[in-house]
Amino acid sequence: MTRTIDMIDRNVTALRAVVNGEVLLPGDEGYDEARSVWNGDIDRRPAVIAQCTGPEDVAAALRYARAAGLEVAVRGGGHGYWGAAIAEGGLVIDLSLLDHVDVDPVARRARVGGGATLGQLDAATQEHGLAVPAGTVSHTGVGGLTLGGGFGWLTPLHGFTIDNLQSAQVVLADGSVVLASATEHPDLFWGLRGGGGNFGVVTEFEFRLHEVGPIVQFALLAVEQDRAAHALRVARDVADGLDRTLSPGIACISAPPAPFVPAEHHFAPVVALILIGFGDPDEHAAAVAAAKGALQPLFEVVTPMPYVALQQMLDEGVPWGVRSYTKGLYLDELPDTAIDTLAERLPGRRSPISEVLIFPLGGAIADVGDDDTAFGGSRSLRYVVALEGIAPDPETFAHDRQWVRDTWNALRPAAVHDGAYVNLNAEFAGDSLRNTYGAAKFDRLRAIKAKYDPTNVFRHNANIPPA
Ligand SMILES: Cc1cc2nc3c(=O)[nH]c(=O)nc-3n(C[C@H](O)[C@H](O)[C@H](O)COP(=O)(O)OP(=O)(O)OC[C@H]3O[C@@H](n4cnc5c(N)ncnc54)[C@H](O)[C@@H]3O)c2cc1C
Repeated sequence: MTRTIDMIDRNVTALRAVVNGEVLLPGDEGYDEARSVWNGDIDRRPAVIAQCTGPEDVAAALRYARAAGLEVAVRGGGHGYWGAAIAEGGLVIDLSLLDHVDVDPVARRARVGGGATLGQLDAATQEHGLAVPAGTVSHTGVGGLTLGGGFGWLTPLHGFTIDNLQSAQVVLADGSVVLASATEHPDLFWGLRGGGGNFGVVTEFEFRLHEVGPIVQFALLAVEQDRAAHALRVARDVADGLDRTLSPGIACISAPPAPFVPAEHHFAPVVALILIGFGDPDEHAAAVAAAKGALQPLFEVVTPMPYVALQQMLDEGVPWGVRSYTKGLYLDELPDTAIDTLAERLPGRRSPISEVLIFPLGGAIADVGDDDTAFGGSRSLRYVVALEGIAPDPETFAHDRQWVRDTWNALRPAAVHDGAYVNLNAEFAGDSLRNTYGAAKFDRLRAIKAKYDPTNVFRHNANIPPA
């Protein structure tokens, strides 16, 4: 008798016969590498890891998981802060082999595998002087970042990553493969643009591309942490009202031991204003000169650089395997009281790589209506704040995780609500996920979930329960 995939239980022989990639079990060579994720604090042992090479593999893995009664997790780039990519004792649909990036420079489109990294995306698109807005660390996955919204240096000029999504190929919970776009399954397409991995496995994204670089202008002005309150006020005021071609970031970090940092300042805790210029270099230089006058920085790095180098610049500060705990906040303004609270709390972190990142938003994100996508947050939002406890050793990590929680609580009075960017939070307690989307959007997402994934197969994420 021929064994069909529905008849097998935990025996993966039939799954191995139909999946083109490896199907890994505990003890197999490659299993430990495949179950590891960026956050070294996550140590889970799935029952099966199916390394899929296309939608048919994904559909087979889903059928197998259903027959075997296994919880499903989907792994894109493995950078989800709480390890959503790996389910203990479950089945992992590992998309890391699905990492193609095919660029059509004439149509200005890129077709990108659901497991590609931002580095792969940038490298392929920049070959043609093109890019799509995405994150600021190149080893992050395109999959999770896009489905939650996605922002980076290009966001003031060209919007969130989802604002540049043209279509997506999706494997649904029942194994069927559909294309979602403005004209096909538009409800699904709406939900994918901000609703996370709740509705299916995206095996391919299609993005619209923009002319970028290849050379962009970079400036980092670093002020000693002792003057954090002053630096944060100036950085806030500089970031306010910038032209869209000038992209700001505020980073409370320790100066890296990099060649561009004077040796005497290596590891010095600083507040840095970062200004990226995508337009006229003279306008960038003028904005940097004005900021410098007000900040009086301890040291500065001002240089043109390739866009791909900009996209890799922060990679080493957050290496693969480090322990991490993150909490986010949305702020409509950055009042002096919040700045003073943050300045007081900054010296309390112990790890030199724990950090506070403040992303001033604005510009192109407000060209899209609040209800045009499922993005969890308002399009008039001004700041995303990320509090990140990051450390290699467990003791320092435990200390800084508590520091993140306490700092989050201290800043809470300035926040819009207790929700946050879905891609940032390590946990969503109580109503915070509903608050992130707002009641109307959350209910709309729940209805779409009920249509496309009624039994909540895709629940290892910031989960939207089916209506
Ligand atoms: C070092 C670092 C830097 C970051 N910088 C930024 C930044 O600059 N801007 C920003 O917006 N965010 C940033 N983030 C947050 C990032 O967007 C999220 O962590 C995101 O979830 C990572 O996606 P991933 O595919 O790598 O992760 P995974 O852990 O693989 O996936 C995260 C979630 O998305 C789901 N998922 C992933 N791929 C797919 C797919 N193809 N189909 C269906 N579901 C999928 C997973 O099931 C999981 O629920 C950063 C995170 C880290 C750790």
